[in-house]
Amino acid sequence: MPAPHEVRVVLQDFGKPNSHTMAVYEAGGGYEALKKVLLHEKDRWTPEAIIEEVKKSNLRGRGGAGFPTGLKWSFIPKNSGKPVYVVCNADESEPGTFKDRYLLEELPHGMIEGMILCALALGSEQGYIYIRGEFYLGWQRVEAALKEAYAKGYLGDNILGSGKKFHIATYRGAGAYICGEETALLESLEGKRGHPRLKPPFPAVKGLYGCPTVVNNVETFAAVPAIIRHGGDWYRNLAKGDPRSGGTKVYSISGHVRNPGVYEVPLGIPLRDIIYETAGGLRPGRKLKAVVPGGSSTPILTAEEAEKAIMDYEGMAKLGTFLGSGGLIVLDDTTDMVEFTYRVAYFYAHESCGQCTPCREGSRWIHDILYRLRQRQATKEDLETLLSFTENMGNGTTICPFSDANVMGVIPIIQKFRQEFEAYLSPAMSKAS
Ligand code: SF4
Repeated sequence: MPAPHEVRVVLQDFGKPNSHTMAVYEAGGGYEALKKVLLHEKDRWTPEAIIEEVKKSNLRGRGGAGFPTGLKWSFIPKNSGKPVYVVCNADESEPGTFKDRYLLEELPHGMIEGMILCALALGSEQGYIYIRGEFYLGWQRVEAALKEAYAKGYLGDNILGSGKKFHIATYRGAGAYICGEETALLESLEGKRGHPRLKPPFPAVKGLYGCPTVVNNVETFAAVPAIIRHGGDWYRNLAKGDPRSGGTKVYSISGHVRNPGVYEVPLGIPLRDIIYETAGGLRPGRKLKAVVPGGSSTPILTAEEAEKAIMDYEGMAKLGTFLGSGGLIVLDDTTDMVEFTYRVAYFYAHESCGQCTPCREGSRWIHDILYRLRQRQATKEDLETLLSFTENMGNGTTICPFSDANVMGVIPIIQKFRQEFEAYLSPAMSKAS
């Protein structure tokens, strides 16, 4: 049963028995978009027409960056003489984000059909799904779904007799968060250490094996079949807010709500509707303290900010934060913000790949100072040092956005809940210093 405000597009079959199988996906209209493009309306659906329809939908990358998907596809050079690769980023590992995991386990065919449609638009013959290594069930389900798709002729050397060719292989990651960054993912896929690359060149020009490559998230691909079936206008108009944010968004909601889980609602609805109605509200007798809106690297919202927040790309930007991956972490008034921030900082210190000095050293310093604070051994000066890291780590001087993500996830909590951090300072040490 859908929860209040839910509009299920990507999650259409979520919760049905055997939702991961071809039979259930096809019963709900699965692979109809592919048949439309290759059989029923094949004259209409040129590669350009597919890209235009996706552009019209205002679908934006659902992995966190929010880049317009159709525009991204249009950056792939035509007739470069090189193969074009379609890569699905299924390396979800941002703290608070667990929606793709359910899409892989419960609804793998939507992502697969989306990848095939993307391949037809870009003239690609080979795709890869890079799956987080810990998602063992998800990987098994994706492998089984690929087998079903090959058996039905949706994948292979002659898709539905059209003469078009597209193959998909899976690749399991080894547990590094940074491999969710698209260039690190490509390095890893090539069999190298998962270190992000300097951009430009962007993957659209020089991606996997130096060839044009599109990298999109699981949820992004999974939205494409409905866009082709029902039209870009239909999808865009599902949103309730700013038309630049089209369609629906899948959120993973965790923390202090009665019904944590995975939900799909239109973009542009108030955050309070999602918390109090879709996710069932707070625990009895508790008050909202803060909300992390889009995974641990998005700046936190205070309760006052959350009460007026509109959940789309523009609404989040107005409050100085991001929609991110849709990993909503709801915190009530029992939360110790120092403890919460320390957990986030621990994660980033552990996951920095170490290529850039500000990130490698800075993430360790943030962790160490917060560790001292938790032990009530930090001074006021330590707190000032911590706040200065925004300047030194968060100004785009590193190879990838991980360093910025670290300070965005940590520093706003200290700025917005400073009193709680000051209460942990060591009076004796502050006097001595
Ligand atoms: Fe690695 Fe951090 Fe530099 Fe990104 S910013 S490349 S994670 S050291």
